[in-house]
Amino acid sequence: MEEITINTQAKHTHYDVIIIGAGPGGLSSALYTSRSNLSTLVIEKAMVGGELNNTDKIENYLGYKTIKGYELAEQMQESAFQFGAELLQGEVVQYSEVDGLKQVTLSNGDVLTAKAIILATGSRNRELGIPTEQEYKGRGISYCALCDGFFYTGEDIIVVGGGDSAIEEGLYLTEFAKKVTIVHRREEFRAQPMLLEQAKQHPKINFIVNTEVDYFRGVNGVEQVRLKNTVTGEEQTLSVSGAFIYVGKEPQTNYVPNYLLTDDEWVYTNLDTSTKSNGVYAVGDVRHNQLRQVATAVGDGAVAGQQVYHYIKSLTPTN
Ligand code: NAP
Repeated sequence: MEEITINTQAKHTHYDVIIIGAGPGGLSSALYTSRSNLSTLVIEKAMVGGELNNTDKIENYLGYKTIKGYELAEQMQESAFQFGAELLQGEVVQYSEVDGLKQVTLSNGDVLTAKAIILATGSRNRELGIPTEQEYKGRGISYCALCDGFFYTGEDIIVVGGGDSAIEEGLYLTEFAKKVTIVHRREEFRAQPMLLEQAKQHPKINFIVNTEVDYFRGVNGVEQVRLKNTVTGEEQTLSVSGAFIYVGKEPQTNYVPNYLLTDDEWVYTNLDTSTKSNGVYAVGDVRHNQLRQVATAVGDGAVAGQQVYHYIKSLTPTN
């Protein structure tokens, strides 16, 4: 792989466009803006590729029958930075608008400005929200099968949730666990039928539906989970060594002012990725959107990149 320089200090204090987040949406945006000769800074607090790095394999991104998440992340990185976009390792703690300029403040106190901004900070896994969850976090409770699955080799575990993530990660966990029980609070699943069918056919997977987790218990980490049927009220205890929680996503928008957000804190955008503020765009999972996929994030990035180009052109008098 071609070497990409990751700076911990930005080379300039002002750019045409600053992209916050280097997942598929941010990277795709950077490809389009830098290829349009706009000076482009991409800021990422963790790993380039974002959630791709926590995904085992991807089978629904056109052009690849199947590819490992980290491999796609590497290929996207190489592609995104080929036209001179700059990559900065850092965390944005505040976004604001000052005298017509977009301003970002980093956790180290540095302040950078730009003519346009693309918000691409994605989402993170939501917690279950039950008291014992905090107690057993990292001691049997995990939110990342790819990171922690190996520790449960030969063990019985549960996966909580009924969406694509729960089913996909449940399938992945069969590579390690002896038995995977998927616990879902309803009878109907949000997961794609094909994934669900694959899980139903899998000899290591079984399902418990209409059931919620009441609490976790154990001396050396999780040893038991108490479940409650939402229809009959019946309770049961399972002996398990781990629980993987996949109960949806929440946006990473704590640095974004409220006027750009929906009530549930996703960034509100129009179809062309523009927000309520001129020159501010949002792409990928952080947007208020029905479908959150690698493909939709990449598509958003193309749209936002083009929109930013036209927006910046419109700021420059032609005479
Ligand atoms: P999701 O689709 O929102 O599903 C969350 C699941 O968790 C739902 O089944 C929900 O139950 C359940 N849930 C929510 N809160 C709960 C609670 N407090 N206790 C118990 N269960 C709870 O989230 P996701 O699976 O993380 O997917 C997020 C997005 O990424 C989706 O758009 C998905 O399609 C996409 N994605 C796509 C792929 C892929 O294409 N391969 C892979 C992963 C994710 P209810 O159904 O009862 O609400």
